[in-house]
Amino acid sequence: MFVVLLGPPGAGKGTQAQRIAEATKLLHISTGDMFRENVKNETELGKLAKTFMDRGELVPDEVTIRMLLERIGRPGAAAGVMFDGFPRNVVQAQALDDALAARGNRIDRALLISVPDEELLARLGGRWICRDCGHLYHERNDPPKTAGKCDHCGGELYQREDDRPEVVQTRLDKQKPPAALIDHYRAAGSLREIDGQRSLDAVTASLLEAIG
Ligand code: AMP
Repeated sequence: MFVVLLGPPGAGKGTQAQRIAEATKLLHISTGDMFRENVKNETELGKLAKTFMDRGELVPDEVTIRMLLERIGRPGAAAGVMFDGFPRNVVQAQALDDALAARGNRIDRALLISVPDEELLARLGGRWICRDCGHLYHERNDPPKTAGKCDHCGGELYQREDDRPEVVQTRLDKQKPPAALIDHYRAAGSLREIDGQRSLDAVTASLLEAIG
C-alpha cells in the first residue's frame, strides 16, 4: 500500500502521518523531516535546503526528487509507504508514479486534508516539536502534559524557524497543493478528501477509513 497525504501547511499532515503509520505499520517518509535532519547535521543538502525553507519556499524539485527516490530505493520501503509532504506538485507526483511503476507499484490512495486559511494561520503559530523524537504538539489542540517537554521521550520541545508569522503567510501562499496536483490524483481515481477541521481523532478515523 502506497499512500500520499496532501494538504496545506498546518492541515495536520505530519501529526496524522505519525498516527497512521503507527496504526497501519506503513513506513512514514516525510521530506520535511528529511530536510530538517540534513539542516541539523549541517550537510551540503541541508545548507542548500535551509535557504529555501527559511523563506517558506519549496526546495527545488530536482534536489527534492533525488533525495526522495534515494530514500524509497532503500530496504524497508518495499512493503508500503505513507508519504507526508511529498509530492508538492505534478512534476514530483509524476516522478513518484514513475519510480513506483518501475517496481510494479502505484499510489493507492491520495488523502487530501482540507482546512480553511484562518484556521491554518492559528495552527501554525502554536506548533511545537520534540528535538529528540520529532513528535508534534500544538499549544491549543494537542498540548504536551508538561509545557516544553515531550510526553514520549522527555525531550525538549522547540518551534520551527518557518513557523514564524512572517514566514507562515508565504508558506500558505506558496505551498497549498496546486489544483493540478489534486486533479492528477482525482484522474487516477485515488483521491479522497477529508475535512481537517475536526478533532485529531475524528480526522485519523476518516483517514484510516479512506485507506480501507
Ligand atoms: P514540511 O515539514 O512538509 O512543512 O516541509 C518543511 C519545508 O521543507 C517546506 O517549507 C519546504 O521548504 C521543504 N519541503 C518539504 N517537502 C518538500 C517537497 N516535497 N518539495 C519541496 N520542498 C519541500
